[in-house]
Amino acid sequence: MQTDLADFIKDTDDGREADAILRTCVHCGFCNATCPTYQLLGDELDGPRGRIYLIKQVLEGQPVSRRTQVHLDRCLTCRSCETTCPSGVKYHRLLDIGRAVVDQRVPRSPADKATRFVLGEGIPRQEMLQSAVAIGQWLRPFLPAALAAKLPAAIPAADRTRPGKPLTVHARRMIAISSCGQQALTPNTNAALSRILDRLGIEVLTPATGCCGALRYHLGAQEQALDDMRRTIDAWWPYIDDASAGVEAIVMTASGCGLQVREYGELLKHDPAYAAKAARVSALARDVSEVLAGEQKELLALLPQAGARQPVAFHSPCTLQHGQQIRGLIEALLVAAGYELSPVADAHLCCGSAGTYSFTQPKLSKQLRDKKLATLEATSPALIVTANIGCQTHLQSGTATPVRHWIELIDERLAE
Ligand code: SF4
Ligand code: SF4
Repeated sequence: MQTDLADFIKDTDDGREADAILRTCVHCGFCNATCPTYQLLGDELDGPRGRIYLIKQVLEGQPVSRRTQVHLDRCLTCRSCETTCPSGVKYHRLLDIGRAVVDQRVPRSPADKATRFVLGEGIPRQEMLQSAVAIGQWLRPFLPAALAAKLPAAIPAADRTRPGKPLTVHARRMIAISSCGQQALTPNTNAALSRILDRLGIEVLTPATGCCGALRYHLGAQEQALDDMRRTIDAWWPYIDDASAGVEAIVMTASGCGLQVREYGELLKHDPAYAAKAARVSALARDVSEVLAGEQKELLALLPQAGARQPVAFHSPCTLQHGQQIRGLIEALLVAAGYELSPVADAHLCCGSAGTYSFTQPKLSKQLRDKKLATLEATSPALIVTANIGCQTHLQSGTATPVRHWIELIDERLAE
């Protein structure tokens, strides 16, 4: 694609990166076929190719309108288009750059600003979110149905007594993120991680961090998100920098956070104080499925002999299958652990959670959730499992079938 970027951006880091990305797009439109918003809305400007054109126009200095912002806002950043694209277009980076320019030029309504402020300030603060969830659970009968459905079930007392702290001191160590929305909403996920890795002779360290930055980044608050990333690196660095700490990996149980940490190196590459540290942190990041696949022989030796298990439907989050390009590991581990996997059609499509999308684009988000649940429940599985907190709570809000993190199933098998 030919480009002619405007003076305001062409000689900047973002301008050079956007120009290179735009030039890789050959305008073939293959990406539209796997884009959830294009499938729902049927508008070229709600598909990746159209959005790429909109961003090109913005960066070439053409007028920007609220309509441009709406089409970019409707993008889930699911990256399904990147998996499909034969030219390797790094769409998500172009979108980041395009959204930042559009948001500087098109003011948001007070209501939109307030929603984004509350989400950006509330969800990353674990204690605040924990308190809000506890109050919400208490008031559930009086809340609007849509809000009540977003609340997780009350956390069983047995799980509260197992807060994901190291169980035994081991020579092998991995870091896990300590404070995030997941810990407030489903604390049993990281508790299960600690128990599983403990059985494998690996200690989980949880230095106090805060949000990894994913949430604010996806809300468009990119500078605040970069500060979240720097703070997280500062919390982890003493353990990474000290060879005697023996940290092998940063193990992530939420694939959305895992993708963000994997991209610290890319996002902080122009920050002289953090570029090298960020690259090292990204190189150490692993999804829990990669860690357990690496330990599969030892893990299987600990599991009881497989009996007949409940049928389970697995939803692969976009941040796992498209963002991190991890496919098939979890399915293989669940089958090896004795679970029967239900077939799921259109597994490449987003469930509509997409960070804060369910709050900022509730109508589209609900349509995508209901389509996803129809495919997940087509064979009436006993359970749905996934690998990201956002997908877990979003899917659970639309079904009575329990939706859980897949490592909880492995943890339960180990406890049998
Ligand atoms: S992003 Fe890729 S698939 Fe989509 S139009 Fe461009 S080259 Fe084709
Ligand atoms: S990231 Fe997802 S929603 Fe956005 S253009 Fe690509 S496929 Fe469509």
